[in-house]
Amino acid sequence: MIDFQGILHKVYSEIGNRQERGKVATYIPELGDIDINKFGIHLVDSAKNEYSEGHSQEKFSIQSISKVLSLTRALSLVGEKLWSRVDVEPSGDPFNHLSLLEQENGIPRNPLINAGAIVVADVLVSELKNAKVEFLDFIRRIANDPSIDYNLAVAKSEKNTGFRNFAAANLLKSYSNLKNNVDEVLDFYFHQCSLEMNCAQLAETFFLFSNRGHCIQDQKFLSVNQVKRINALMLTCGFYDEAGEFAFEVGLPGKSGVGGGIVALLPNKFTVATWSPGLNKKGNSKLGMEALEMLTTETGLSIF
Ligand code: GLU
Repeated sequence: MIDFQGILHKVYSEIGNRQERGKVATYIPELGDIDINKFGIHLVDSAKNEYSEGHSQEKFSIQSISKVLSLTRALSLVGEKLWSRVDVEPSGDPFNHLSLLEQENGIPRNPLINAGAIVVADVLVSELKNAKVEFLDFIRRIANDPSIDYNLAVAKSEKNTGFRNFAAANLLKSYSNLKNNVDEVLDFYFHQCSLEMNCAQLAETFFLFSNRGHCIQDQKFLSVNQVKRINALMLTCGFYDEAGEFAFEVGLPGKSGVGGGIVALLPNKFTVATWSPGLNKKGNSKLGMEALEMLTTETGLSIF
């Protein structure tokens, strides 16, 4: 029996107060004000025991982590035909790259880069009557938590400054890989990125990817095969141009966001979320990566 609480405590004590914390993202102005000294970690094991340290109950903007959830919804709605509009190859591109220009066909490299997530957002806008409301409801059901919500100030802040995402969406439109109006799709995309969760809610929401598609309440949201695909995408594409490093250091599928969150999981064993708003040069939470590296070293558990 692994002493998860003891290990999280050790991770928190050794890493949570480190001086070198990276830099908070400022390109979305609303995120620039977050206190860099925050650090939280929360783990849910396969028996649904929960373990926490630090600021694990404080909400933050999950940003790109939401791309895994929009992908989940799109895959459950349209199935495999999604892959005709978005590829499944790692891009190796930085988090703020347009990640499309090198492609001649308007098919983004994968659904976890911005261009790919904007195509997924377009699918949801097409398939759902009121995408913002229904997507939020979907997340609340997976998490079993009606308190989860968008942060409207963050969504607005990104709408005012998201010029690259407008460029990417317009480019997709020019290739006919965006069916709806650019503003409508981006309005949905900016709201989805503004979702707020704390580490506990994030780990509980992603429990389904370590539990063969069944959420924390044991309701089925994805098939085993769909979970395999999403976990593979998280492993190969979940960390911008640092996915190789994350696999090397941590050895788990996961996803980061520029709000400083990281969620990662070991199928059939545990799901873990960290939050530390300072990012390293590649746009991933600096202390979050260090904490997860220590967690897999101390537990001896990784997919490898
Ligand atoms: N909403 C952010 C953007 O589109 C997400 C970035 C991220 O977390 O990688 O730039």
